[in-house]
Amino acid sequence: MSRYWSSVVHGLTPYVPGEQPKLEHLVKLNTNENPYGPSPRALEAIQAATGSTLRLYPDPNSDALKAALATYHKVRTDQVFVGNGSDEVLAHVFLALLNQDQPLWFPDITYSFYPVYCGLYGIQSKLVPLREDFSIRAEDYLPRFNDQAGGIIFPNPNAPTGCLLPLAGIERIVAGNPDVVVVIDEAYVDFGGDTAIALVDRYPNLLVVQTFSKGRSLAGLRVGFAVGHPALVEALERVKNSFNSYPLDRLAIVGAVASVQDEAYFQENCQKVVATRQTLVEEMGQLGFEVLPSAANFIFARHPSYHAMELSMALREKAIIVRHFRKPRIDQYLRITVGTDEQCRILLDALAEILGG
Ligand code: PMP
Repeated sequence: MSRYWSSVVHGLTPYVPGEQPKLEHLVKLNTNENPYGPSPRALEAIQAATGSTLRLYPDPNSDALKAALATYHKVRTDQVFVGNGSDEVLAHVFLALLNQDQPLWFPDITYSFYPVYCGLYGIQSKLVPLREDFSIRAEDYLPRFNDQAGGIIFPNPNAPTGCLLPLAGIERIVAGNPDVVVVIDEAYVDFGGDTAIALVDRYPNLLVVQTFSKGRSLAGLRVGFAVGHPALVEALERVKNSFNSYPLDRLAIVGAVASVQDEAYFQENCQKVVATRQTLVEEMGQLGFEVLPSAANFIFARHPSYHAMELSMALREKAIIVRHFRKPRIDQYLRITVGTDEQCRILLDALAEILGG
């Protein structure tokens, strides 16, 4: 606290990201990073760009990246917005599109940055409870005669549950809310979902947000993007150009372009994570865990006889870090990132020891 702070700062409750410990030799399964490196072609492109051109500002519009993404997703470049990680894209989305008179609707259990953006911009929200099985029910997001959303946002697959709403459910929500913007945050879609980008040409109220941090292993480069109707993209450009002209640096632009162009590496990388997830889910089940169906690069699991908090502390003593949320409905769950086969083996052996001991 300081008397020099603005009243806005006094009222903020910032987002707390999963920790990034400085210690080496940890089995780090707490922030849903990809256990494999980025495309070697992306690394080469970044290396090649670390010359004297860094004295120059980057392209403020990141045109090369927009073009690569437009080609990849079969849309036009004026339907693509890019930003410094999808968190920054989301920040602009909240200000440009979700800051409305009616409250913003999102699930009671979801990405915990959403309430933080609401606090930052003074946006009212309505929490829509997930079903008992933690799935999203499309009907819960349809307007009623006296209850209308100002906007709708959720991740698909949802976080931290990993549960996927099939595309038909997404379309039901988007088609049923023609007067409000529906944002689908597809941070984890590369590991099992169908992207709603296929729907953007038919629905001018749909915005899809994706990231290079998970499927493309580039969390450290900070690149995210959104795809939607040009009018939605223009709103985002207006906010971005009132905030920071150059959010993507030269290395981020060339690295992201090369990553998009290396489809074989991307597919192989995602498939490895999905295969490991399957084994992890099966073996967690054998240890007595209940694991929610995951379409993401993490699993959400509880053990009927052990407190999640205690399990996470016991794992930490063995240098294994997973994520535990002290929140209603989910404080008995652990969110565990799918690591390499070896990391998952270490985790499973440690859990077997903790449960047996
Ligand atoms: N959306 C969701 C649901 C996430 O879990 C994350 C990662 N914390 C993000 C967006 C942001 O990812 P990034 O800023 O790395 O693109």
